[in-house]
Amino acid sequence: MKLVLLGPPGAGKGTQAQLLKKDLKLIHISTGDILREEMKKESPVGKEIKKLVESGKLVPDEIVTQIVAERLKALDSKTGCLLDGFPRTVKQAQDLDRILKAIQQPLDYAIYMAASLPVILKRLTGRRVCKKCGTPYHVKNRPPKKEGVCDLCGGALYQRADDNEGTIKTRMQEYTANTAPIIQYYEKQGKLLKVDSDRESEDVQVDLLKKFKADGKFDHHQNTTRA
Ligand code: AMP
Repeated sequence: MKLVLLGPPGAGKGTQAQLLKKDLKLIHISTGDILREEMKKESPVGKEIKKLVESGKLVPDEIVTQIVAERLKALDSKTGCLLDGFPRTVKQAQDLDRILKAIQQPLDYAIYMAASLPVILKRLTGRRVCKKCGTPYHVKNRPPKKEGVCDLCGGALYQRADDNEGTIKTRMQEYTANTAPIIQYYEKQGKLLKVDSDRESEDVQVDLLKKFKADGKFDHHQNTTRA
């Protein structure tokens, strides 16, 4: 199965990706995680994009699409994947269609995770992320068992440089101007699946798995618990 997770910052894409990848045995490709990794390594790409990412602006299409194309081409035909944070522009969506066509693996769904501004702001300002494995937490809604420590790998939790109110505003503007038009793009293709993402991630997960099952896309044993 090939999935895209769409939605504003703070819609819960990363958390949903963590839940779905286990149920559906998918490879999780988060362009935000990949870009932050490049920044940490101080690679040429990492240095080029640092200012953009930290100020909440989008990275140029060519850079991100190239990264995603390499990852998708490396997958074998039986492995499904979940794209989290890509595409973010109509150009990226068109390029993704071309890449998937070339590897003869069409997209199954673009999941649009709709969330309201107050929920988005609460989620982003309280978000903490594992430095080592990228698992997202929230100080109130999804706290780790031990403060500041990842439940899954023991890594230290940190607050992303772009999770502050000023940068969130820029990220929302980028979303509205560049990313929101993709919703219509996938709607026209009949691939859009809209979910109310103000709800708990586990409730969204249950609905998505039901839909996949009803469409005959998912026949594994359903496991809706969080590790
Ligand atoms: P995320 O972790 O998905 O919130 O992404 C963090 C930041 O990485 C974004 O605010 C952008 O600066 C950059 N980024 C991630 N994915 C993309 C993309 N598909 N296109 C352009 N910029 C991206």
